[in-house]
Amino acid sequence: MLRSGLVALILALPAPAQDEGCRACHGEGVRECTGHKALADEERKVLACSEAMQCKQCHGVLRRDCQSCANPKTDAELQQRVQDLAAWLAERRKSVDAITGGKEIRHLKTANLDLAFSVRPLTVGRVKLDTHALMHLYAQRIEDLRTLFQQTFGCTDKDFSGRLQIYLFKDQLDHQRLAPRVTGQGANSNGVKLMGVECVYCAHHNPATMPGDEELHRNVVHNVTHLLLANAAPVCWRGNRKGVWVDEGVAHWFEDKVTGKCTNFCYEEVALQPGAGFKGGRWRVPLRKMVEAGKLGGFARLAQLNTDELTFEDHAHAFACIDWLLAVHGGPKVRKGIDELKQGKPTREVMKDVFGIDMLSVDDALSAWIKATYPLEEGGR
Ligand SMILES: [Zn+2]
Ligand SMILES: [Zn+2]
Ligand SMILES: [Zn+2]
Ligand SMILES: [Zn+2]
Repeated sequence: MLRSGLVALILALPAPAQDEGCRACHGEGVRECTGHKALADEERKVLACSEAMQCKQCHGVLRRDCQSCANPKTDAELQQRVQDLAAWLAERRKSVDAITGGKEIRHLKTANLDLAFSVRPLTVGRVKLDTHALMHLYAQRIEDLRTLFQQTFGCTDKDFSGRLQIYLFKDQLDHQRLAPRVTGQGANSNGVKLMGVECVYCAHHNPATMPGDEELHRNVVHNVTHLLLANAAPVCWRGNRKGVWVDEGVAHWFEDKVTGKCTNFCYEEVALQPGAGFKGGRWRVPLRKMVEAGKLGGFARLAQLNTDELTFEDHAHAFACIDWLLAVHGGPKVRKGIDELKQGKPTREVMKDVFGIDMLSVDDALSAWIKATYPLEEGGR
């Protein structure tokens, strides 16, 4: 602001426009808010953060009016931004917090994601992160997964019609109250998804099945992969129908790619014992052993199963099929095959037309590839 006593003097000088001459803000009319400390860089990567909005100086805008000069245009822009953020958070409080009754839910908005989050502080690597820092980390991981998915299959933003809507709570009750509202389905003990045009995942951090950050991260990777796969054009969710090997295979492939293990299984009805899994989540060695022992199931059978019929071995088999197809044919071709399956083309025809392989030859080809690629023991060949 100009001090009134100086107005006449300054106006009389042949000076540059007042905002350009301000040394405090370099003519910007605004200055960076210094109230965000360790997470300042994280805040600047996101579009809105309910925690950053607690800042008394900037209300989440991350910039403040420069007190050393007058700049009505940027003043108005700042005011508008404060109002827009407040309206966004009010809507989130109404559609999430008011339903759950939870008091400690934070909200974050990034380019492709709306995240509601109340997971308790967790140790990541060697650093203990509080809930706010953890929320930023998970938002970044979800955006990174989306980017990796696009790079893997050669698709772009244009291929996704929906924003990711993710709800991760510390309390099961919050999850149970909100899941029916946002997914249309009752909450089970695990997460609940709404896939297709909508991309919703609602879950709570269950310490019995997910002791720490690594397990929660892997759970999010598995489930968000399902959302991305179902939303990628042409939109159509294949879950609970024949061909689920593709959904589970791809979800496991990204679990393995990002976190090095596969430990999440999408059962609809089968209650999974806490900690139940297959071979500690590291599947290449056991798959090689299954092949050596002649115990890998047939692909024609796998291709007919639905979600509830998959055994642990079938999940591993599905992972290997996707791993093999991606390695041999590359992501864009695999995506073409998945697109055709999504549109209802029989597996037999897709294998022949897209991958040039006879249904009856798949087992031999996959087994030969596993023998040539997967080690007989961890760390070996
Ligand atoms: Zn200034
Ligand atoms: Zn924040
Ligand atoms: Zn601030
Ligand atoms: Zn799954």
